[in-house]
Amino acid sequence: MKTHTPKLLFVTLICLILATSVLNAQPSLKIVRGRTDTVKAIPGTVHYITGYVPSGSSVFVNGTPVKVFKTGSFGAELRLSEGENPVEVKAEIGGSQVVEKFSVYLHKPVSTDTGSPALDYSGVVVSTRERAYLNYGVGEDRLGGAKINFLSSGIRMALLDSANSLYKVRLSDHRYAFIPKALVQREPAGTRPAYSLTSSWSVTNTGGADVVRIALGERLPYIIYQEMDPRRIVIEIHGAANNSNWITQYLDLKAIDYVDFNQVSHDVFRVHIYLKDRFSWGYKAEYTGNSLVITVKHTPPSAIKGTLAGLRIGVDAGHGGSNPGAISTSGIREKDLNLAMAFMLKNELERRGASVVLTRSDDAELSMYERVDIFASANVDMAVSIHCNAGGNPLRPGGTSTYYKHIEHRELSRVVLNRLLELNVKNFGLIGNFNFSLNSPTFYPNILVETLFMSSLEDEEQIADPIFQNMMMKKVVAGLEDYMKMVRNSLRRK
Ligand SMILES: [Zn+2]
Repeated sequence: MKTHTPKLLFVTLICLILATSVLNAQPSLKIVRGRTDTVKAIPGTVHYITGYVPSGSSVFVNGTPVKVFKTGSFGAELRLSEGENPVEVKAEIGGSQVVEKFSVYLHKPVSTDTGSPALDYSGVVVSTRERAYLNYGVGEDRLGGAKINFLSSGIRMALLDSANSLYKVRLSDHRYAFIPKALVQREPAGTRPAYSLTSSWSVTNTGGADVVRIALGERLPYIIYQEMDPRRIVIEIHGAANNSNWITQYLDLKAIDYVDFNQVSHDVFRVHIYLKDRFSWGYKAEYTGNSLVITVKHTPPSAIKGTLAGLRIGVDAGHGGSNPGAISTSGIREKDLNLAMAFMLKNELERRGASVVLTRSDDAELSMYERVDIFASANVDMAVSIHCNAGGNPLRPGGTSTYYKHIEHRELSRVVLNRLLELNVKNFGLIGNFNFSLNSPTFYPNILVETLFMSSLEDEEQIADPIFQNMMMKKVVAGLEDYMKMVRNSLRRK
C-alpha cells in the first residue's frame, strides 16, 4: 500500500539499508550516461557523464572531485574536442578504489539530403475513421505533429499529397490539413468530397450541458477552438454555404449566452457560441447523423461553493508496465514515483470530498487512448496527469512545470504551478499549447504536472523522498482549490 507515509518511509528505509549492504559487499561503480563510442557534433560540444556509487563514496572524473548525492548519483561535464576524448572515472568506495576508463570519439556532422518523388492523387477521396484528428503540418516530434482537433468519423475530403505517415487533405478551397493515413480510408473512384448547405439549428439545455445542433446535408470537416475575449467557442465548418434561416434558441440555457454565424468565405461557415461564464468546463463536437452537435458543459454545482467537494477528478500516473518513463541516474523509475504520487494526490482529494478516477492503480500498461477513454467515460470534471521530467544538464536543478494545450485551461495550469513553486524548486515554466495526448481533450479542464527532473542529480535527490513527493501533491491540491475559489468569485461577480 502506498497510502501511509510512515509505512512507505519505513519500507524505503529497509530498502535503502538492504541496497547499501548489498553494495557494500561488492564495491561498485556504474557509469549510466556518457559512455558513448562516437558523438556526431561540433567540437566544444558539452558531454555529460553520470553514474552512481554506494553513497558516502568519493568520485573523481579526469582527476577532478565531483559531488556524490544522497542517492549515490554523481555527474560531470566535459567539452569534447575533435577525435579521441579519454575519460577516467575513479571511485573510492570504503577502503578500495575502482577505476573505469573509456574514450568518446567526436566526429564533425555530415549533412544528408533526401528527396522523394511526388505522387498524383488527383480525384482521390478519403473519409475519416473513429478517433481521427487533423494536424497543421508534417512536423513530428516525440509527441507527434501539432494537432488541430479531433474529427468525427465518416467525413469525406479530397486527397492532395502524402508525407511519411500523413496524408495532406483539402478542407475547403483555401485550407488544407494533414491526417494520419491509419485514420482514414480510401473511397471508391468517382466519390466526391463533401459539400453542403447549412440548414436549421437548435440550441437547447439537455441537463448538465447545453447543446447546439446544426443540420447539414452531409458530414463536413470542421475546426473548433475556444477564444477567451470575448469568451466563445468558434467552429469553422469547411465546405459549407449558409442556408440557415431558422435558429431556435431556448431561454433556459446555462452555459451558452447566444449563438451567431458568419460566412467568412464562399465555402467556410463560421459558428460563434458565446459563453456565459468566465471559466469553462468543457465542450465537444461530433456528428449525429448529418447534424453537427456541439455540447457545452454546465458549471458543476461544487463551483458555486468554491470547493473540490463533489467533483469527480481524474488522476493519471504516467507510464507503467514495460514503459518505465525516465530512469534516474541511481536507477529510480519514473513510473513508480508517478504511481506513488497519484495515490498521494488521490488521498488528499478524497479528504476534501472529491471522488477520484485513476487511470491505473498498479503497474498496468495503458495506451494514451485508454487513459483518455477512462476519463471520458467516467465523465470527469477535471483531470491531472502526474509525471517526472527528464533531459538537459544533469548537474543543474531542472525544476517543476505545468502544461496545458487549450487556452481555457491556462488558469488552472498557472495556479497549480504557483503553488508548486512555494516549495522553492526551480521554475521550469508554464507551458502552453503542449501537444500531449492527455492535454488534447476539450471536454474537461486538464493539466499535466512534471514534478521534477529524474535526470537532474539535485532534483533526483528531492523527488526520491516520499515526504517531498507528498508535499508536491499537497501543493497540486492547493492549486486546484485556488482555482475553485476563482471560479466561485467569478460567478458571484456576475
Ligand atoms: Zn513521463
